[in-house]
Amino acid sequence: MKKAVFYGIRDLRVEEVESPRPGPGEVKVRVRYCGICGSDLHEYLHGLFPVSPFGHEVSGEVVELGQGVDDYGIGDRVAVFAKDGYAEYMTASREALLRLPDDMSWERGAVVEPLSGAAYAIGRGRVQPSDQVLVTGAGPVGLMVLIGLKAIGVETVLVTDISKTRRDKALELGASEVLDPLEGRIPSRIKEYTLGRGVDVAVEAVGVEASLKDCLASTRYRGTVVVQGIFTDRVPIHMLGFVTREITMIGTNFIDPPRALEWMTARGATPEAMVTGIFPLDDIARGFEVLTTDKDRHIKILMAP
Ligand SMILES: [Zn+2]
Repeated sequence: MKKAVFYGIRDLRVEEVESPRPGPGEVKVRVRYCGICGSDLHEYLHGLFPVSPFGHEVSGEVVELGQGVDDYGIGDRVAVFAKDGYAEYMTASREALLRLPDDMSWERGAVVEPLSGAAYAIGRGRVQPSDQVLVTGAGPVGLMVLIGLKAIGVETVLVTDISKTRRDKALELGASEVLDPLEGRIPSRIKEYTLGRGVDVAVEAVGVEASLKDCLASTRYRGTVVVQGIFTDRVPIHMLGFVTREITMIGTNFIDPPRALEWMTARGATPEAMVTGIFPLDDIARGFEVLTTDKDRHIKILMAP
């Protein structure tokens, strides 16, 4: 079978390898789609880091059961949250699966995982529908958070991004207002919008200093900053403001798939709106390159083995 093998920075090759066999407690899945995650892109550009499984946004069907698996059957439609999804077949522990409804498209199935990162972050931030929320960054992470916030009924969601295309996408997905950080200081504009109070919750979805600072300085007294962006650099923080305004800052790096699925099946969430391209597996390197070089046009790309 075909599988994309990571050789090093910007060196990803599709090779013919032996099809995997499921071990005890595992299933084998025929991959329909595997989405390119921001963390995969990060690894492609900067090298592997151990906490993130490469190729984990998978939809597919169960084709073989390992010993002891009796709660899944052949043909079951699943989302898989485990590594090695850039291949025709993969194996995964049964704990890494989520059963998909029969009428859910494979495309929708592949974006359950990115939405579940947002579901987890929103849960950790204890966001309430009445909260005013700031999301800094309208890339895949920030837009998924926006979709989740709308799914739980948050009315006021302010979104920042330097790209007009991405700001437009945020508006399309229900943002109350979009702001360009290059057009004036975000915190003062947020203060203006919230009548001097600041937002209840800010979600950092970029992973850069300016964006984190905007979150911290835009949040109200005893508000919450949820950090979901992946940082490569150290960041100096204005600690006096953080302390005197008694802000809670939470790091998040996990997923809540059942909650994301519930948003999609019962609350009208459409994370597939983020998919800007579907490429054959043979073109995987092009998929990664396009996400790097054409950020204005591409947000989420799915690989189809
Ligand atoms: Zn992901």
